[in-house]
Amino acid sequence: MTEAFAPSVTALGCVLAFLAAFAMLDLVKRLESRMDGSAFGWLAGASVAFATGLWSAQVVGTDKLDLPYALGYHPGLSVGVWLVAAMFSSLSLAVACRRATAAGRCLVGAGMLATGMVVAEVLFVEALGLRPGITGPGPAVAAAWMVAGLGCGCGLWLHTEVRTRAPRHLMAGQALSALLLASAIVVSQGLVLGGAGLDAQTSSAWRDRVPADSMAVLVTVGSIALLSMLLLLSKLETRWRDSLQRAKGELQTQSLRDPLTELPNRQIFEGTIAQATLRADVSQGRVALLLVNLDGFKPVNESFGHRAGDRVLREIAARLRSLAQTHMVARLGGDEFLLLMPDNPSVEDASGMAARVLASTCLPCRIDGREAIVTGSIGIVMYPQHGALSTLIAHADAAMRVAKGSGGATYCFFEARMVSGLREQTELLRDLRRALAQGELELYYQPKIHAPTGEITGAEALMRWQHPKLGMVSPTLFIPIAERYGLIGSLGNWLIDEVCRQIRVWRDGGLRMRVAINLSVHQLRQPDLVERVGSALRTHDVNPGLLTCEITESVAMEDAEGTIAIFKRLTDLGVSISIDDFGTGHSSLSYLRKLPTSELKIDRSFVLDLETSEDARKVASAVINLAKSLDLKVVAEGVETEGQNKILREFGCDQLQGFLFAKPMSAKALALWAMDDVGPRTMSFRSSLFKETCAAELV
Ligand code: C2E
Ligand code: CA
Ligand code: CA
Repeated sequence: MTEAFAPSVTALGCVLAFLAAFAMLDLVKRLESRMDGSAFGWLAGASVAFATGLWSAQVVGTDKLDLPYALGYHPGLSVGVWLVAAMFSSLSLAVACRRATAAGRCLVGAGMLATGMVVAEVLFVEALGLRPGITGPGPAVAAAWMVAGLGCGCGLWLHTEVRTRAPRHLMAGQALSALLLASAIVVSQGLVLGGAGLDAQTSSAWRDRVPADSMAVLVTVGSIALLSMLLLLSKLETRWRDSLQRAKGELQTQSLRDPLTELPNRQIFEGTIAQATLRADVSQGRVALLLVNLDGFKPVNESFGHRAGDRVLREIAARLRSLAQTHMVARLGGDEFLLLMPDNPSVEDASGMAARVLASTCLPCRIDGREAIVTGSIGIVMYPQHGALSTLIAHADAAMRVAKGSGGATYCFFEARMVSGLREQTELLRDLRRALAQGELELYYQPKIHAPTGEITGAEALMRWQHPKLGMVSPTLFIPIAERYGLIGSLGNWLIDEVCRQIRVWRDGGLRMRVAINLSVHQLRQPDLVERVGSALRTHDVNPGLLTCEITESVAMEDAEGTIAIFKRLTDLGVSISIDDFGTGHSSLSYLRKLPTSELKIDRSFVLDLETSEDARKVASAVINLAKSLDLKVVAEGVETEGQNKILREFGCDQLQGFLFAKPMSAKALALWAMDDVGPRTMSFRSSLFKETCAAELV
C-alpha cells in the first residue's frame, strides 16, 4: 500500500493542497462575525477553494503515477466529483467554522469534512473509468478517512485556538493549520489511490477525452490562479474592513473631542474623573480637579473678533496640555478648562499646579502681530475631602467663582460655605415653582407722577412674592433665580396676562390706568414674546396704548439688531417701550436714536446723589436734555426727598416715581385711592384717567 501511495504524493500536489487549505481558512474567518448574505458568499468561496485544492492535488498526484496504460478524464464526471467535494466542504465548514470555539462543533465539522474528502477521492477514482474496474472501498478508505479526520480535526481546532487565544500569531497559526489540512488531503488521497490498485487495471475509458497530463497542466494553472484570486479577495476585504474600522474609531474619538482645541470634551472627561476617583477609593488616595475660567476673554473676542478668540482658546489649550504632562486636560465649554491630577496629589501639589497654570495663561497670545492678554481664575477641589464625584465639577465651579469675584488671576480651594447659597437657591427655586402654580405671586403697582402737575399718570407693575415661611421675598432675589433656572418664561407669561387682566378690571371700574411692566433679557429672547403680549391684550380687550414695556439699558444695548427687531414688533402692536435704569449701561447715541422707544428712566443711583453730588446733577440734567433732543419722555425713579423732587422738576423731568409720592401698593389699594380718595392726599389722579379711552389723550 505504501509503495502504491508514495508516488502520488508530489511536491506540486502538496503546494496545491496547502494553498487551498490556507485560502479556505482565510475566507472562512469572515463567517464568524456575521451570518448574512455576504457570509454565504465567503462560505461558498471557502468551499470552492477547498474542493479545487482537493481535486487538483489528486489530479496532479495521479498524473505522477507510473501506470502501464494511458489515463484520461471525463469532463462531466470530473466536475461532478469537484461539486461533491465542494458541497461536503461547505456543509462541514458551516458547522465547524462559524463560532467554532466549541470543540464539539470542531469535531463534528472535521468528521464531515473528512467524509466529504474521502467520498470525493473515491468518486475521483471511480470517475477515471478504469477497466476491468476497481474492487470497491477497502480498509485503505477507512484508513484514509481516519487520517483525514485526524488532520482536519487538528487543523480546524488549532486554527480556532490561535484565533481566540493568540490572535497575534494568527498568520503562523493559519499556516500550521493549513499544513495539517494539506497533509490530511495528500495522505488520504495517497491511501485511496494506493488502495484502489491502479496497477492492476488495463485501461481508462476516458483516455481520449482529456488526457491525464493535459488535465494536470490545466488544473495546476487554473487552480493556482483561482486560489490566488480568492486569497487576494480575502486580503482586500481584510484591508477594507480594517480601514472601515479605523474610520469608525476616528469618528468616535472625534465625537468625544472638542473640535476647536482637540481636547477631550466634558462627556468623556466625566468618565475619566469617575475612573480616577474609583482608583483613589481603592488606594485611599486623592484626586485634584482644577477648573480654569479665563478672565478677560470676552473683551478679546469683542475687540479682536471671534476667529482670534478661537486662536486664543487653542493657544491656551496647548499651554495647559504641555503643563499638565501626565495629568489630563479637557475643555468644559466656552472659555473653561478642566485639569485633573489623578495620582494622589497633595494640596501643595494642586496649588503648585494652579500657580503654574496662572503663570502660563497670563503670557500674551500673539495674534496677527497684536498681543491679546487673558488671565485665569481657578477653582480647586480635592477628592474625597471636598465632596462626592457628582458634585466635583459644581464645587470646582463655586470655588472658581470666588476666585473670579476676588478680582481674578488667582486660584481658590473649595470650601463648604461656597455652596450654602446654592442650596438655598435650589430650595427657593422649588418654592417659586409652587408659588407660580398656586398663585402665591402678586403684582404691586407704584404710581408714576406727572411732574408739572403732580398728578398720577400711570403705574409700574412690580412682582411680589409672599413666601409662606420667609415672608415677602424681593424680586431682586427671585427674578435672577427664575432667569438662571429657566423659570422666567412662565413667570413673565403670568405677568403679562395678569397686568392685562388688571388693566381690564380697573378699566371696568372706570379707571383708565397706564401700566409699565419689566421685561428681562430672557423674556426678550423668547421667540413668542410679542405673540404673548398681543394675545393677552386681545384676551382682556385692552388698548395696547395702556401698556409700556420697561427694558434695562444694558439689555437693550446688548444685542443691537435683535433688540431693534423685537422693539419694532412690540411698537407695531401699539405698546410703548421705556429704557429702564438709564445711565448705568453703555448706550450708543446713534443706536439709541434707532430704537423705537418713547421713554428713558434715569437710574435711581443718580437721583439718590442729586442733592449732594454735582456730578449726579450734571448726569441727570444731561440725560433729561438728551431725552428731550431725542423727543423722549424722561422719568426719574427712586425720588425720596423734596430736594430731589425740586431739582428734577427744575431740570424739566416729565415724570417722577419714588417713595416720596407712593410706595408700590396692591391693585386694590391703588383702586381705593383713586376711587374713594383713600391714600396720600397731596396727589390726585389725572382726570383723563377716568375718561373714556382715546388714544390721543394717552400722554
Ligand atoms: P426696577 O425696575 O428698577 O424697579 C424699581 C425698584 O425700585 C422697585 O423695587 C421699587 O420698589 C424700588 N423703588 C421705587 N421707588 C423707590 C424709592 O424711592 N426708593 C427706593 N429705595 N426704592 C424705590 P423692587 O420692586 O424691589 O424691584 C426691584 C427690581 O426687580 C426691579 O427694578 C426690576 O428690575 C425687578 N422686577 C420687579 N418686578 C419685576 C417683574 O415683574 N419682571 C421683571 N423682569 N423684573 C422685575
Ligand atoms: Ca422698572
Ligand atoms: Ca429701574
